[in-house]
Amino acid sequence: MKMSFAGGTDAVGSLGMLLENDEGRYLFDYGLTPAKPPRYPLKVPPTDALFITHSHLDHVGMAPWLCGEYGTSVWGTELTLEISTLLLEDCIKVARLENYAIPYDMSDVRRFVEESTIIRHGDKAHLGDLVIKPLHAGHIPGSSMYRIETPNKELVFTGDINTIDTQLQKRAQPPKCQTLIMESTYAGRPHPPRKKVEEEFISKVEEVLDRKGTVIIPAFAVGRTQEVIQVLSQLDEEMWLDGMGRRVSQIYMKHPECIRDPGALRKAVGNMDFVKTPLQREKALEAPIVVTTSGMLDGGPVMNYLMKRKNDKRSAILLTGYQVEDTNGRTLMDTGSIEIEGEMHRVHCEVCQFDFSAHAGHDELVRFAEGSGAEEVILVHGDKRAELEKDLSRFTKVLLPTDSDIYEQ
Ligand SMILES: [Zn+2]
Ligand SMILES: [Zn+2]
Repeated sequence: MKMSFAGGTDAVGSLGMLLENDEGRYLFDYGLTPAKPPRYPLKVPPTDALFITHSHLDHVGMAPWLCGEYGTSVWGTELTLEISTLLLEDCIKVARLENYAIPYDMSDVRRFVEESTIIRHGDKAHLGDLVIKPLHAGHIPGSSMYRIETPNKELVFTGDINTIDTQLQKRAQPPKCQTLIMESTYAGRPHPPRKKVEEEFISKVEEVLDRKGTVIIPAFAVGRTQEVIQVLSQLDEEMWLDGMGRRVSQIYMKHPECIRDPGALRKAVGNMDFVKTPLQREKALEAPIVVTTSGMLDGGPVMNYLMKRKNDKRSAILLTGYQVEDTNGRTLMDTGSIEIEGEMHRVHCEVCQFDFSAHAGHDELVRFAEGSGAEEVILVHGDKRAELEKDLSRFTKVLLPTDSDIYEQ
């Protein structure tokens, strides 16, 4: 069996792993890199099946092209497929709005839906002599790793994983395998203890409210918004949710089997007021706390709140995750200014960052690899893989592939 990569080996984005044997060609994830403009992986030859680990665009963003071009069948959990469709449609809308070329359209997204097959954790897919099994990944609701059983060995493709319990997800356990293809987004970067992050976050919110400021919390719609509103649910305050996070939260609640504590999520969503109309946004603009997209301040409703509060020293922007290079969020952290409608604006309110990451940190990745008992570890989906390689010296083989390498498995 041949293994190669369409993208995403040495960077966080555009991940795609291709396996090929005498019977067929199978892809595991096929994402794009959400940048301005987006970057795309290599175009793969006709492919029989695509297995999606989860609904983030760096894992699923190229799937409609594949379905439109070859009629490839798509496999994923029901929740992953549903949220993916939402994000893919949004991706086309954003590309149109920003005038970026995108290699597929709404008819390809429809084809993606038509070609979809639901696979649950615990189910098996038999494709030729491969047996493929999704396992809980702990990253976002519905996310999977894939165990791939071949006649002579077992491989595991992790997609994105988290190995600590969060509000939203139970931790992932390392599955036994011979070859582990592991994400390395946080290679070289440990996380602070989550409990401490939550406490500091809540005390910052309280501090801002005490000085009569407004708290603006930018968060990704998928996963991060729900994590953050669950942390906020301990507060008895008026809180608003604006942007796609509302729709995603409602879809999550239809899938309690994918949520660590469905009752806690329901309570958290129940505590929020939703922005659905311009009038409600007017109200939210005056409210003490708002959670809104986009998480890295690259457009979305958050821009309204930033425009309103940027000169208010009592108010604060609480970033809820890592800010990727070339995003407005990163510019804000590095320079104290942001771009709003093509113009740079100085921001005078407080800016803080909290690490609510849904990825395993450096030490957790090392422990996960060790727990798998693998002989061979293949590191992908990270720009600091060498940092992780240093701590994996006890493995027989550690590989850092590039996008053009081909391995015999
Ligand atoms: Zn992800
Ligand atoms: Zn990812």
